[in-house]
Amino acid sequence: MVSLIDLKRQFNTIKTDILAEVEKVIESGHYILGTHVKKLEEEVAERLQVEEAVAVANGTDALVLTLEAYGIGSGDEVVTTPFTFFATAEAITRVGATPVFADVDEKTYNLNPECLESKITSATKAIIPVHLFGQPANMDKINEIAQKYNLYIIEDACQAFGATYKQRQAGHLGDAACFSFFPTKNLGTLGDGGMIVTSDKRLANQLRTLRVHGSSKKYFHDRIGYNSRLDELHAAILLVCLQKIDEWNANRISLAEKYTASLRHVKGITVPFVSEECKHVFHLYCLASPKRDDVTAFLNKDQIATGIYYPRCLHLQEVYQHLGYKKGDLPVAETLSEELFAIPMHPYLTSNEQNQVIKAIKKAVNKL
Ligand SMILES: *Cc1c(COP(=O)(O)O)cnc(C)c1O
Repeated sequence: MVSLIDLKRQFNTIKTDILAEVEKVIESGHYILGTHVKKLEEEVAERLQVEEAVAVANGTDALVLTLEAYGIGSGDEVVTTPFTFFATAEAITRVGATPVFADVDEKTYNLNPECLESKITSATKAIIPVHLFGQPANMDKINEIAQKYNLYIIEDACQAFGATYKQRQAGHLGDAACFSFFPTKNLGTLGDGGMIVTSDKRLANQLRTLRVHGSSKKYFHDRIGYNSRLDELHAAILLVCLQKIDEWNANRISLAEKYTASLRHVKGITVPFVSEECKHVFHLYCLASPKRDDVTAFLNKDQIATGIYYPRCLHLQEVYQHLGYKKGDLPVAETLSEELFAIPMHPYLTSNEQNQVIKAIKKAVNKL
């Protein structure tokens, strides 16, 4: 079977370095908010050219804490995309605000600025664009709208570490940005982790308080907070991964180029569009086909794994029924949820495996 992702293969390439770092953490006797977390925050901030980075327990918390630090809650609205992982909207609901969904662009699959503006009301406080599958959203237009209506922009960059928009790093394209270090993300650890980056020092200070029970001085509490910290162990592992991320992203990009060159002329299949303004880091490589079920069934029979991101748009989720959306409201996102499928993509996919995937897709399409 050619798998979608092979974390074991990936982590084995840096196992010795990781074990040495884990040993150092054990020997340090310091396991929460110590030197490794601080170093990781500094390295990420420098890389992304932002003033501040605050490590937290996971990407979902990164979003929740940022919304809360901005004072967003009950009665407020936050506009986002319906075509993303559930956590993007869940975080908005979690702080008591209402997610408002705007349709996506049919080429990039990211928030469509033209659909976004008409969703803004006097209750709107922020926009959360998601850099889906590793490609940044159309940030100039989104920033223009945010400025016009005085809204915060919180990037959901959970799938896009190292991606760029007009030569600027994802994470440096709004007021604050959230990353996830879940193992399958393009920068991931051996467990959960997350981070917020920003150049707003006040926000960063509030986030540092929120992640430790609303306390800026130990045992003195200014507000109700969370227990949401990144462990020293994960910070140490991520410092090792950080040295590899450029190589890993470059591998993903060259694999994507080969897929696209080999599949762009295959009838009935749409390859990913990469904007000239962006470096797309291909957290996922997704094809589109109106006959997705047939194509993926053929591929699976040929020992090629496939994945579906995402089979149901967020505005049509059971839990959001009360928001009153119906099928047909956001047609571009809905079509994507019916047509897209991911094929194997990870930094250590071999060219033999990739050739096997390409051959199987051509064969599958011929049989339709
Ligand atoms: C993974 C992901 C999250 C959540 O991150 P966790 O670390 O799993 O909590 C949020 N948004 C997007 C777009 C993601 O892909």
